[in-house]
Amino acid sequence: MAGVTAVANQKGGVAKTTTVHTLGAALAERGIRVLLVDLDPQACLTFSSGNDPDSLERSLHDVILGRESIDDVILKVRDFLHLVPATIDLAGSEVHLLARTGREYALKRALEGVRGSYDVVLIDCPPSLGILTINGLTAADEVLIPLQCETLGRRGVRQLLETIDDVRAYTNPGLVVRGVIATMFDGRTNLARQVVQQVRQEFGLHVFEPPIPKSVRFAEAPARGQTILEHAPRSAGAAAYRELSAHLWST
Ligand code: ADP
Ligand code: MG
Repeated sequence: MAGVTAVANQKGGVAKTTTVHTLGAALAERGIRVLLVDLDPQACLTFSSGNDPDSLERSLHDVILGRESIDDVILKVRDFLHLVPATIDLAGSEVHLLARTGREYALKRALEGVRGSYDVVLIDCPPSLGILTINGLTAADEVLIPLQCETLGRRGVRQLLETIDDVRAYTNPGLVVRGVIATMFDGRTNLARQVVQQVRQEFGLHVFEPPIPKSVRFAEAPARGQTILEHAPRSAGAAAYRELSAHLWST
């Protein structure tokens, strides 16, 4: 039965999608069966894994509405790496969910039928603390928080931790905050190290090693439907994600 990990931070551009896709690819390389879930109506994960969201007939939105079973929307990205795609329709799911009893549980329910077929499920949350992210956190066993080390994101981290506390209180008491992934890390600046130090001290969060270095190679990969692991396999960024995946999921 797969463990479910949500990658969440309500700030956009902190490398949530990159982290989900690259960790997923790193696990798949090791023969671990991975299901990626695109929970963001912007569908960046769907796009970067080689699918045009505008031409998909079915997506997570249809599963949430109960029109399709999750098996019928899952796409194969490559061996050991599958995807529940998003389309812009997912923005409409929010409205639909808000009017529904049990709205926090829609994703958890949908995943129940397929958890047995995977070893790891990775959920790419949208940049908000709305009902879609709550669905991601309710469906998850644990949360990883990517943090861009260039800005002092402490207020954002506090808000996210408050939301996680609410989710624990109302829908998912067992939810574990696994820790913070330092992304776009530039070890030459003091600021990057200060930010890491602050989240450790102020929130008692574990910050994983290694940090993910800042590199233009990351921005080049999605347009090719690749991750940095295929696009620049010997880069420092690829090595960092591989090491992190081995650390997070030792088998
Ligand atoms: P989010 O999902 O949190 O909005 P993304 O994963 O889409 O963030 O990343 C935002 C942008 O930053 C993308 O253009 C991505 O290619 C780029 N990016 C991600 N990780 C890195 C990195 N380590 N170094 C440089 N650019 C990165
Ligand atoms: Mg994203």
